[in-house]
Amino acid sequence: MHKLFILLVGSLLVSNQALASDANQLAQDAVIVDTHIDAPTELLKEWRDLGIDTDREFDYPKARLGGLDVAFMSIYTSPGEDKKGKARQVANMQIDAIEALVQRHPDKFAILTSPNDIARLQAGGHVLLAYGMENGAPIGDDLSQLEKFHARGVRYITLAHSASNRISDSSYDRNHQWNGLSPFGEKVVAEMNRLGIMVDVSHLSDEAVIDALRVSRVPVIASHSGFRHFTPGFERNLSDELAKAIAKKGGVVQITFGVGFVNPKSAADLQTYFTESAALAKRNAEAKAAGKPLEDEEAFDKAWDANHPTPPTKIDAVLDQIDYAVKLIGIDHVGLGSDFDGVSGALPDKLKTVADYPNLVAGLQARGYKDEAIGKILGGNLLRVWAEIDAGKGGTR
Ligand SMILES: [Zn+2]
Repeated sequence: MHKLFILLVGSLLVSNQALASDANQLAQDAVIVDTHIDAPTELLKEWRDLGIDTDREFDYPKARLGGLDVAFMSIYTSPGEDKKGKARQVANMQIDAIEALVQRHPDKFAILTSPNDIARLQAGGHVLLAYGMENGAPIGDDLSQLEKFHARGVRYITLAHSASNRISDSSYDRNHQWNGLSPFGEKVVAEMNRLGIMVDVSHLSDEAVIDALRVSRVPVIASHSGFRHFTPGFERNLSDELAKAIAKKGGVVQITFGVGFVNPKSAADLQTYFTESAALAKRNAEAKAAGKPLEDEEAFDKAWDANHPTPPTKIDAVLDQIDYAVKLIGIDHVGLGSDFDGVSGALPDKLKTVADYPNLVAGLQARGYKDEAIGKILGGNLLRVWAEIDAGKGGTR
């Protein structure tokens, strides 16, 4: 009995080890594409050399450890920067910062602007950096900016972020001024189709996602979204119907890792925060107009954070999302958009940095996913959609 127990434990250990090294190997062999990493914003806030080991969630050594091949750098601008007329400036500075990184380490990084160049540019161990613009604010009201940002390498644009803008309504903003896309936003989508820039519907209101699907001639992506199924009422995550519509059009839903999107308690807190902080902003706007003293918005945020610590969340929360997505919309329409460096470290256990994709692979293997299916999720699906849109540019399709 005792001996049998030891034998059993021994074989379990061996199979666990085999699983782990297998997952590592698969992560190294497969093309991993992560469509949302907020390194540029963090770089501008507090600079690091991302070519060497850092305290950031994305850097070269960690990317190599995790088997990351294509990292979409998020060119993010806030509604506040838009209001101040700074969005275009900030976006260009972030692209400059990534170009400087590549120039500093031409042996480690290369800029990727077409999925056809991956094998060639990766030679010698390069991690490839692509650009996704989060918030269409830098376009302003000038369609020709799309061509300029395309020339700088931007290959997807999240039409809006946390506030309704000139292009689209946002899921976080109770003010749905357009009930979807604006008339200008429809022109933006058409021009993005023509140029070969992917339309990203993450962050949009439901009506705006429906409009984007209607207006776009080619598949659309959700660069970093979860499923509302797990977080009832949270419009930032996709409803089953919208996810199905994205898949039906040939697109892909890139599952995001942040606790705020995959943990129901955290998502509920986030919704309450948006309601309360919007109410506070409204009170302050009224007080300002009436010449009365304002409430301290920074103090409100600080107190909120102190009272709402990140709930412990297991990697299984992300695996559950992937599983649900695969069952609902099919293995060909699911991918990864982590939001590393974008959620203040509020990430599940075992999924803390770009070194951790092998843990996700091991989790998928444990749930019965075969190598081919895992390869699709890790990057194959996104690359299929990108290649289709890249090939169709020029408005000839
Ligand atoms: Zn985001």
